[in-house]
Amino acid sequence: MQQINNLAAKINKFQTQITASVQRVVASGWVVLGPEVKRFEASFAQYLNANHCITVANGTDAIELALKALGVQKNDLVATVANASMYTTTSILAIGATPVFMDVNLDNHVVTLADVKHAVTSGAKAVVVTHLYGLAVPEIAEISRYCAEQNVPLLEDCAQAHGAEREGKRVGTFGDAASFSFYPTKNLGALGDGGAVVTNSPEIAQRVTQLRQYGWSSKYCVELEGARNSRLDEIQAAILSEFLPHLDEGNSRRREIATRYRNEITHHEIRHPQEQGKASVAHLYVIKCLKRDALQRYLRTVEIASDVHYPIPDYKQPVLEHSFGTLSLKNTETLASEILTLPCYPEMTDKEVSNVIAAVNGWAA
Ligand SMILES: *Cc1c(COP(=O)(O)O)cnc(C)c1O
Repeated sequence: MQQINNLAAKINKFQTQITASVQRVVASGWVVLGPEVKRFEASFAQYLNANHCITVANGTDAIELALKALGVQKNDLVATVANASMYTTTSILAIGATPVFMDVNLDNHVVTLADVKHAVTSGAKAVVVTHLYGLAVPEIAEISRYCAEQNVPLLEDCAQAHGAEREGKRVGTFGDAASFSFYPTKNLGALGDGGAVVTNSPEIAQRVTQLRQYGWSSKYCVELEGARNSRLDEIQAAILSEFLPHLDEGNSRRREIATRYRNEITHHEIRHPQEQGKASVAHLYVIKCLKRDALQRYLRTVEIASDVHYPIPDYKQPVLEHSFGTLSLKNTETLASEILTLPCYPEMTDKEVSNVIAAVNGWAA
């Protein structure tokens, strides 16, 4: 069976480093918010060429705390896409704010400047842009300039795009703040949950640092409203420090697999994502097919796992349907019915990639 991901293979590859980092933390006796967290925050900020990195418990918390630090309050409208599986929407709802859903480009699945302008004109007080499937949003620089002009804070959700870059600048450094997830299957993943907020602003960094720990200004003195406990633990930070130096090589391997799929899957029913160079870190390889469900059923019979990222637009989720009854975003809905994700992760062997290619090409559509 070809899985969609293989965490065991990654753990096996880094066994020595993982064991050493766990032992180092256990021996130190310091397990939460200690030297390993500081060290990882410094190196991840440096990797991105950003001034501050504040780790938190997961990527969804990163979005929520970043939005709060950007000044988003209850009842504010916050713009986001509806094709990224509710992560940002969950964070917006947790604040008591309201999502304004933007449509996305049909060719690359991400927002355009026009989509953002439309949302801001409709009253959005903050904008979240998602670098989906590993692709740095093509118009991110223009979106960033526009939001700055309009005085509307911009958050980049980089949970699928660690290391993606445009014009030599990594995602996470275009907006006022950025959120990252270190969920195990992300391009930079821990062996448990983790997340981070990245920013160049000392004020935003200070607020997130307080928001992740009860709102403390100093120990036991609560200064900031809306705070929580959302911390990364030392073991995960130590493991992330071991994985970070291998992020670029993992991203290169993902791009290599994507290139093989693009060149070697020649089935006439299948459309490929555009080649994007370093702007994509190929987090997910997402093809389009009008007979998607039939293709997925066929792949199952030949033991190739595939997945749909994501099947239900946020505004059609059972929890939100009643609030967005008449909303319909054309491209978002078309894509939801056509997309299919093929296995693509750095530890995939050439033979496994060949098997997937042969299987897909062998589909009698
Ligand atoms: C995974 C993911 C998140 C959420 O991260 P968690 O660590 O699972 O909370 C947010 N946004 C996107 C686009 C993601 O892929």
